[in-house]
Amino acid sequence: EPSVLQYLKLFLLLVLVGVTATRVPHQDLPVSLGTLSLDGHFSFHDLSAAARDFGNLSSFMPAAVLHPGSVDDIVKIVRHVFLMGERSMLTVAARGHGHSLRGQSQAARGIVIKMESLQSVRMQVHSGTSPYVDASGGELWINVLHETLKYGLAPKSWTDYLHLTIGGTLSNAGVSGQAFRHGPQISNVNELDIVTGRGDIITCSPEQNSDLFHAVLGGLGQFGIITRARIALDRAPKMDRHPEQLEIIVQPTGSLWASHFESDGIVLFCLEMAKNYNPEEAENMEQEVKNILTQLRYIPGSLFHTDVTYIEFLDRVHSSEVKLRAKGMWEVPHPWLNLLIPRSSIHKFAREVFGKILKDSSSGPILLYPVTKLRWDNRTSVVVPDEEVFYLVAFLSSALSSSGPHSIEGTLSLNKRILEYSDKASIRAKQYLPNYNSKQEWKAHYEARWETFQRRKNAYDPFAILAPGQRIFQKAS
Ligand code: FAD
Repeated sequence: EPSVLQYLKLFLLLVLVGVTATRVPHQDLPVSLGTLSLDGHFSFHDLSAAARDFGNLSSFMPAAVLHPGSVDDIVKIVRHVFLMGERSMLTVAARGHGHSLRGQSQAARGIVIKMESLQSVRMQVHSGTSPYVDASGGELWINVLHETLKYGLAPKSWTDYLHLTIGGTLSNAGVSGQAFRHGPQISNVNELDIVTGRGDIITCSPEQNSDLFHAVLGGLGQFGIITRARIALDRAPKMDRHPEQLEIIVQPTGSLWASHFESDGIVLFCLEMAKNYNPEEAENMEQEVKNILTQLRYIPGSLFHTDVTYIEFLDRVHSSEVKLRAKGMWEVPHPWLNLLIPRSSIHKFAREVFGKILKDSSSGPILLYPVTKLRWDNRTSVVVPDEEVFYLVAFLSSALSSSGPHSIEGTLSLNKRILEYSDKASIRAKQYLPNYNSKQEWKAHYEARWETFQRRKNAYDPFAILAPGQRIFQKAS
């Protein structure tokens, strides 16, 4: 039997829909949202933090920030906006840790959902033959690591930096040096709970609602909000020797490290290898590392190694963050460019880009590592080069000066030259963490996959409410 309270709620909802039958002016937004009963709460003031991200190049002020107290809060808000349909311009952006580069987790005059506030989905580790952890989409990977290590377990695939949320990296792919062996993070997920752009909550997996499952993985937040993810786990090693992971740091001539080796005119590649081991396997590990090193050519004096705990290794970028923050250098603008380059064109690309375009003006580390397509599922939304092996090349620039090559404009113009060269020389590069401004560019990015992307958008978020900061679809008006 419906209670009086339920009738009242239904009445209120009908009134709201009625009130919003004409276009909702944004200044009335707080009133309309304030009437919804929530486990969490809305903020309507001091919203500037939700208009910032790591890239520090884009800022869009939202109308409100939701701190969800439950998954039901997210369902209510999205459904509320969905019911307003095309009569409202209101959009909704899930914000993970805000480590996007170009406003992707922002919503101009819309609602930002602070996913880290979603504490109602408790982390639960299940050990056994195929161990896994259930965690909130707003959970940071560093917290997942700490919790799973209590059981001697850990996720298989990582990003280089762990202070990112599950929902944020799964919306992209989540890659680092281990992706060669284990695939990206999106290849290591068993199940998801999703709030779609219609405000429905749906559990999906490769077996159940599989189209939604694959759409959301690498889906740039376009098809739904990840509220829970089931992540595959493995036995965790205790130690890590810094020479299974391979990453290469490229040092064009002008860089500090390269000049240390008096390398005028040549590009130095600094190979970073990591070998996981347990203390009782130390002897074998030494031999294995030696065997690997004999197969490599390198400047003997440049070889060094460090032994660190598994946590120290995985969380290594955080120690740099602490140092950079202390110098005020973490909050600077970051005009990063991330490209996936097919193996057949990597030499050509490296010669031109590292040897010429960036010869004297690299303004941050350049990371490079191979990835194998075998470990990627082509039913997901990510597009990667059509070749068995491709390389992630990450130009991790910081704009440290207001003019010259290391300024925002200087770096953006170098990025543009790299992209223009790649197009002209038919490198067949794909952007990772893609950033485009027009639908035409997005279509070109997705190529034959565009139709599927668009079909999924119509199915799961027909009014284009979600993740407006990606600038792929514009809410119909
Ligand atoms: P946000 O920036 O908050 O969100 C990103 C996008 O996902 C937005 O469109 C947002 O709306 C959407 N979104 C967020 N949460 C959800 C959710 N729960 N459900 C649905 N959509 C959601 N990437 C790698 O792959 N490998 C790396 O090694 C790596 N290293 C990095 C190091 C640093 C220092 C930084 C700043 C970034 C790095 N990244 C790396 C990129 C990173 O994976 C992406 O920027 C990611 O989007 C950041 O996660 P976030 O939790 O901050 O997400």
